[in-house]
Amino acid sequence: QAKNEGRNCFKYFSEALTLAARERIGIEFRLRRAMDNQEFRLFYQPQLKIGSGEIVGVEALIRWQTDSGELIPPLKFIPIAEETGLIAGLGRWVLQEACRQGKAWLDAGLPPLRIAVNLSPTQFMHGDICAIVASTLAETGFPANYLELELTESALMKREKEAIDILNRLHELGVHLAIDDFGTGYSSLAYLKAFPLDVLKIDKSFIDDIPMQNDDMEITATIIAMAKTLRMQVIAEGVETPAQMAFLRSRNCDFYQGYIASKPLPAAEFEIFLHQHKPEPNA
Ligand code: C2E
Ligand code: MG
Ligand code: MG
Ligand code: MG
Repeated sequence: QAKNEGRNCFKYFSEALTLAARERIGIEFRLRRAMDNQEFRLFYQPQLKIGSGEIVGVEALIRWQTDSGELIPPLKFIPIAEETGLIAGLGRWVLQEACRQGKAWLDAGLPPLRIAVNLSPTQFMHGDICAIVASTLAETGFPANYLELELTESALMKREKEAIDILNRLHELGVHLAIDDFGTGYSSLAYLKAFPLDVLKIDKSFIDDIPMQNDDMEITATIIAMAKTLRMQVIAEGVETPAQMAFLRSRNCDFYQGYIASKPLPAAEFEIFLHQHKPEPNA
């Protein structure tokens, strides 16, 4: 009886694994084809100054638009791109497209906005990211000081000494550096101090339950205070409600990003948003 159950269990898992593996290979194949067919798009989500409501920048977020028009979110394919090495090419495309768009906006006379681009851990540590960023800036003509690169704690904390070296070289190019999803990884405060980071992004998970969860409010306030001590600018991610805004303002958080202002938008729709946006004092 027990033996039979064990065998059924094995059969069940082996079928499940095969399915997962097949699904993965399927996505990998489709990803390669999607790169050839240029099925990727960048969406842009505004970042605003707390207190004035002024738009100071945008985060570029990748979407996969299949030929049927379906939009596939990044968490469904970025991890697979990471594991298969496809991220190198995809990441270069993201950087290139964000800088191209940024330059086009500057040339069209839009107010200068900083563009934040997410770098995956592999993209950061393998291949010469400094050379890639430098040549992308040169090719597109986008000014380095308007580009911000977002890195996660896990990307930085694996090989800290090497990370410091890469960050310093990126900083020398004039780009801004941000730590994304802060608080979800394990950062050593000693290293955080040693990294030349300009911006700290508080993870959405701490913002979600403000003002219901006292712990989250305490943690958020502490992260803001710590960022100020380290002379970093601080931005809250995933802000959705006026109550969250009020709390962040009371604790002197610098910037916010979230559905309360706008979801990520295609470039053309972001331009309309920018046009119609009226900064509100005390927003
Ligand atoms: P992230 O960098 O932390 O980006 C913020 C995510 O939160 C985005 O999800 C954004 O749409 C979402 N978000 C922003 N405000 C709100 C809000 O008020 N409510 C809710 N519910 N969500 C909000 P998205 O676009 O699905 O991206 C997910 C993650 O995928 C990103 O997290 C980032 O880690 C990764 N990613 C996106 N684009 C790229 C890329 O070009 N390269 C790499 N390597 N990773 C990317
Ligand atoms: Mg990000
Ligand atoms: Mg984030
Ligand atoms: Mg995130």
